[in-house]
Amino acid sequence: MNQKGGVGKTTCTVNLGAALAQSGKRVLLVDLDPQGNMSLHVDVEIHELDHSVYSVLTNQSTAREATIIDHLKNLSILPSNIDLSGAEIELVNTVGRETVLRTALESFIEEEGFDYVLLDCPPSLGLLSLNALTTANEVFIPLQTEFFALQGMTRLLDVVDLIKTRLDHPIEITGIIPTLYDMRTNLSKEVEQEIRRFFGKKVFKSVIHQNVRLAEAPSHGKTIFDYDQNSTGAKDFKALAREVKRQKVTA
Ligand code: ADP
Ligand code: MG
Repeated sequence: MNQKGGVGKTTCTVNLGAALAQSGKRVLLVDLDPQGNMSLHVDVEIHELDHSVYSVLTNQSTAREATIIDHLKNLSILPSNIDLSGAEIELVNTVGRETVLRTALESFIEEEGFDYVLLDCPPSLGLLSLNALTTANEVFIPLQTEFFALQGMTRLLDVVDLIKTRLDHPIEITGIIPTLYDMRTNLSKEVEQEIRRFFGKKVFKSVIHQNVRLAEAPSHGKTIFDYDQNSTGAKDFKALAREVKRQKVTA
């Protein structure tokens, strides 16, 4: 999650998910962005969906109906498309509107025995993001290693706190992912240091470097591992997945 666009949320969701799947974990990726970038990244035909996150949130289909189980090896996809853009408004008058997703996914996740469920959030802190927070136990925040990386962070931290206190849902920020790291500039290094000063141990040791193969992969509908196994991007996400697997479960 990060309410800023273009910081690498979708790239991280797909490729961290793919790295975990490659290492033998069963992974579910949930696309919570009406733009459907995550779904497109893994080559789901989003214009022809009978079921999607939207129909799940509005009780028109079950999570099982809407999920493409093992779309790729060990990697299942709950896709979205532009229909989802109506959901925030439609859900406003629903009782328990912040926990609709959790209610819809809970038993399905348990039945399928997914090891990891990654939720790709839209670039906003609206009802869809709140639903992601009440569904998840942990928050990962990709931060672009550029100026203004930390701008707006207070609001994001406040929202996470609100979910914890007001909705009594145990959730922790457990992973800051420095993204779009440019080795050639001092700026990336300086911002990375600033991020580490601010968030301390919550920052992953691995950073995701700027890598043209990562930028190309979505247009081929492939994860970085299917697109270029030997790229820097693939190595970065493998390293990140190793760190994630070593993390203790916090909630
Ligand atoms: P968000 O989901 O936060 O909006 P994206 O993951 O879609 O961000 O990334 C924004 C753009 O930057 C996309 O075009 C993506 O392909 C590109 N991109 C993301 N991470 C990298 C990277 N490490 N190296 C090169 N391009 C990247
Ligand atoms: Mg995105």
